[in-house]
Amino acid sequence: MHNQLVPNYIGAEWRTPAGGEQATIENPATGEPLARVSLGSPQDVAAAVDAAAAAFPEWRRTPPGDRIQFLFRLKDLLEAHFDEIARMITRENGKTLAEAKGELRRGIENVETACGIPALMQGRNLEDVARGIDETMIRQPLGVVSVITPFNFPSMIPLWFLPYAIACGNTLVVKPSERVPSSMRMIMELIIRTGLPSGVVNLVNGGKAAVDALLDHPDVRAISFVGSTPVARYIYARSAANGKRVQAQGGAKNHVVIMPDADIETASQIVADSAFGCAGQRCLAVSAAITVGDAHGRFRDAIAERARALRVGNGLEEGVQMGPVITAASRTRIEGLIAKGVTEGARPLQDGRGIRVPGGEGGHFVGPTVLEDLPASSDLNDTEIFGPVLSLTRAQDLDQAIGIISRSAFGNASSIFTSDGAAARTFRYQAPTGNVGVNIGIAAPMAYFPFSGWRQSFFGTLHGQGRDGVAFFTEQKVVIERWPKEWSRKF
Ligand code: NAD
Repeated sequence: MHNQLVPNYIGAEWRTPAGGEQATIENPATGEPLARVSLGSPQDVAAAVDAAAAAFPEWRRTPPGDRIQFLFRLKDLLEAHFDEIARMITRENGKTLAEAKGELRRGIENVETACGIPALMQGRNLEDVARGIDETMIRQPLGVVSVITPFNFPSMIPLWFLPYAIACGNTLVVKPSERVPSSMRMIMELIIRTGLPSGVVNLVNGGKAAVDALLDHPDVRAISFVGSTPVARYIYARSAANGKRVQAQGGAKNHVVIMPDADIETASQIVADSAFGCAGQRCLAVSAAITVGDAHGRFRDAIAERARALRVGNGLEEGVQMGPVITAASRTRIEGLIAKGVTEGARPLQDGRGIRVPGGEGGHFVGPTVLEDLPASSDLNDTEIFGPVLSLTRAQDLDQAIGIISRSAFGNASSIFTSDGAAARTFRYQAPTGNVGVNIGIAAPMAYFPFSGWRQSFFGTLHGQGRDGVAFFTEQKVVIERWPKEWSRKF
């Protein structure tokens, strides 16, 4: 089983990848090999794009009301196989089963939202833009589009895009993360069971080789990407150079401001979940807490206590609250960054390096870590650690706290905890991030709102999900018409 190569789905069949290098996928909680994955080849990508291109003309002509019937069926099938897919997410990614179910639920919400396409895709019109002349804007699908996703939400992130892309009449090539391909494979099985015409959704596994082939393929009209900032920047530049439409979501460094009037008990509970949930491997994870005035001591003690109390282990086990990080290399990198912070003068209130997890000796565990007073000069302040590490910084007032956030290169999310409406409004008004939480730890937009990263956390104009997704996956056509009465034939 663990030697099995994850297949691609192209046209109407599962196919063994044509060639290229391979990698082993392993269970991050145990280190055991699960399967093998191809790192992709231009031949596999070309075959998938050809299948998608062949399916496009007929799919485009299929009425939107008929297209969404496949999504209704997909929603039912995802519900019926919910636990099975969630368990696969946990096995490959390491997050707890509750977290895996949470991400799948958010993914399904996008399938539900895209079922509104007959309303969402409508254009607009105005009669008599000049006397007797009418103008209409209609939305038409682009053609073949592609979705390239990261390891941290193996099922949710493909579903941020897939339902909108096909409901709008496009055909698709999905390239999931090579580290966690199996839940998307299961979802592909369900898509096939909906009876969707072959070629509308194709699945190609791989890494950089597959991505580059997609970016360079002349028949791929648009790229939706989610991943780290350096790769997002590269995707944006290369896709644009090839004349493609692109939305590229990147990495993050998310701050939370704790005001002196915050309910510290609630704030510490929510911030602990945000910072340490999914082992800190969420693009919306809070990784820097800025305490204002005398909030510091109370918040420090409460968050350190919560970090100490978290149960770390295999995410499939009952009662486990935090799983491993994705790979051994990732653990080494995170532990190295904690060491750097400590060398630079931060005090570890809780140090997760070298944690021992009974039964998880082969796993890649890093315990929850809280670093107090990381010096302002440390470049860790603006480094995406992508592990269960929270740093604490002090500010005298809200302005100073917002100033610290404004100096970050990233702009994915920020939050404030306060009981003062005016402070909340100031924060909402000034926070330089695309997603803002007020007494919320993970400012994750629902499916019908855009996932609004800013600055180095997003390259593009139209974001993922909801109406932005519909705009991204359609071309606007404007028709201006004149029909003088005197031209009509009289009967
Ligand atoms: P990654 O950038 O390493 O990989 C993402 C995708 O890009 C994968 O499909 C991978 O195969 C491909 N890829 C990797 N290196 C490439 C290269 N050099 N050239 C072309 N393609 C390449 O990201 P990851 O480690 O899988 O995911 C974690 C990152 O994703 C974090 O930085 C996290 O913040 C970010 N993320 C962002 C959001 C968001 O909404 N902004 C959401 C989730 C994750």
